[in-house]
Amino acid sequence: MPFCPTKMIICPLVAFTVAFTIAFSITSTDASDPTDMSGSEEWPVHDMERPQPTMVNPGASGTPMTPGTAPSDATVLLGPGTGMKHWNHEGWKVDADGIAQVTPGTGDIKTREAFGDCQFHIEWLVPADRECDGQGGSNSGVFFLDKYEVQILGSNPNQTYPDGQAGSMYGQYPPLVNPCRPNGEWNTYDIIFTAPRFKSDGSLDTAGTVTVIFNGVVVQNHSAFMGITAHGSKAKYQKHDPTGQIRLQDHGDPIKFANIWVRPLAERSLAW
Ligand code: MG
Repeated sequence: MPFCPTKMIICPLVAFTVAFTIAFSITSTDASDPTDMSGSEEWPVHDMERPQPTMVNPGASGTPMTPGTAPSDATVLLGPGTGMKHWNHEGWKVDADGIAQVTPGTGDIKTREAFGDCQFHIEWLVPADRECDGQGGSNSGVFFLDKYEVQILGSNPNQTYPDGQAGSMYGQYPPLVNPCRPNGEWNTYDIIFTAPRFKSDGSLDTAGTVTVIFNGVVVQNHSAFMGITAHGSKAKYQKHDPTGQIRLQDHGDPIKFANIWVRPLAERSLAW
């Protein structure tokens, strides 16, 4: 291309003019319309009248050796001094520090209260001397609405079918990775569960979902359940209420639990 001194002058001028016009238009819009509602939000951007979020003491994080503590606004389902009062039977052992253990053969435990969409936290430990062999030796699970399982299983080291290892949506999706700690150390699950919704004719409207953070690592990212957890068959949905009991599984293994808490989650209100 031949050298063109005219272009060398014009191009920077055009670029400067465009940039100046854009910057001026943004500034002038903000200055002329400070109450711009910015689309569907009820509150203008940066409105100091908007209600402040409630302060919450987040509690202490656990370590592989010591369970943590719950946030100040959580419903503590298992912690120091709670015993088993939030659960439907007291067949499992629990000590004064709030560490419970499955008593094999006594059955699953369910919360007395029903929960729907929620943030749920649980810490679990496979005893150090426990032999893990596939689905045997270290199996439990947390079921939301008494129906949708996030698997608990000693998975370090222990191989099984991937959609049945720790952090899996049992029988549906394996965890994205396997961050399980060895037997004898505490594992944590931080789970955000959204219940499925159904139409009046009983058909599925929106699927239930979970996000699972396992020892600080995302292993399920807003993953949709295919249906109610099933063993050895394809999961299917069947209409039910959007709330239900949270269930912990007695699969015959003496898994320990600590620092279990739940925070019900509402859809964001326009007031916020
Ligand atoms: Mg299980």
